[in-house]
Amino acid sequence: MAIEYNKLRVTIHTDRLRENYRLFKKNHDNVIPVIKSDAYGHGLAEVCHALESEGADTFAVGFVNEAVLLRQSGCTKRIFALLGPLGDDDIQALWEHDILTAISHFDQLTRVINAAEKNGPLNICLKFDTGMRRLGFLPEEVDKVTEALKKSRVTPVMATSHLASADEPECGERVTMQAARFQIALDGLAKAGFDVEANLANSAGGMVHEQCRMDSLRLGISLYGGNPFQDTEWESRGQGCRSAMDVSAPVLQVHPLKKGESISYGWTFTAERDSVVAIIGVGYADNYSRSLSNTGYMIIHGKRVPIRGRICMQMTAVDVTDLMGEGRGVVPGDEAFLLGGPGNTPITPEELAGWWNTITYEVFCLLGMNRREYI
Ligand SMILES: *Cc1c(COP(=O)(O)O)cnc(C)c1O
Repeated sequence: MAIEYNKLRVTIHTDRLRENYRLFKKNHDNVIPVIKSDAYGHGLAEVCHALESEGADTFAVGFVNEAVLLRQSGCTKRIFALLGPLGDDDIQALWEHDILTAISHFDQLTRVINAAEKNGPLNICLKFDTGMRRLGFLPEEVDKVTEALKKSRVTPVMATSHLASADEPECGERVTMQAARFQIALDGLAKAGFDVEANLANSAGGMVHEQCRMDSLRLGISLYGGNPFQDTEWESRGQGCRSAMDVSAPVLQVHPLKKGESISYGWTFTAERDSVVAIIGVGYADNYSRSLSNTGYMIIHGKRVPIRGRICMQMTAVDVTDLMGEGRGVVPGDEAFLLGGPGNTPITPEELAGWWNTITYEVFCLLGMNRREYI
């Protein structure tokens, strides 16, 4: 939850989200935007709204109550809950808010079948575990699943499974194995007379594994401009989408840091030259990780400036020596970009994730928890 009085600004460029979506629509006519976890920090309702206007007609979220929130925000399209119902409230909501949910184990299946006796017919998605070992029926259980469904008012209209390593070039065999395991489930459903929309691919799967494209793609990270193949031999195949999130914070104070002087908690950085530092109003309380201490860069006036010393709760120091000779130099109130930014070298989500020692997904989710603006 955003701290309302913090100074961090997250700017979401909805035009870039729309462009990214259009890029995928050129090659596949059924793209399901994955907008779970507040659309990877980009805003559940806002991202849905932007992509609805591009013609997206199904949106995937995580929990059922997340799906209810999306419905209540005014979304009229098909809403798909990837994680399935937990309690009775979730089960009731499937009918009340017209939600297509994944069902991934027999206890869940029995509960929706029983609820359908009272509430009327229900369409569901069957989730199969083809190797991830998190959620889903095993493909070998498909006959038992269809047996239970045949006598019920519950109809599977979709079947889904999730790839564990579609983004790793050396793991092609695992993807093939998962696709084959999924096929066992699909064959079982067909044999029982159920005609389902099949989807297996996430961004990485949809981009390189043709056999995984099937009836629809579940597209997350590349929609937000992240490259799932960063630092692999497939890196160039994941390029072309633009990051839609810019994050900035104001300069609070600018002052000299003489050669030999140290800065911030623990004095972990000592100036090797007479320099000038700017103190930026962002810290780990804004989810700007403390692991970025003495690592990574921000952008001020279109130029890169390195982080100096430890990241504090609400402040971070950067070295602006090289900017002081230009124009009026750096002054309090100037804007520093931690992600994106103006100039020729915006900070990419991949770079920030690298400095942070994590992945772009986490960078987006965490920074996106701050106050957002839309343009
Ligand atoms: C998050 C998620 C996706 C999207 O994955 P990306 O790698 O972001 O494209 C697809 N399917 C499921 C089940 C997910 O949980």
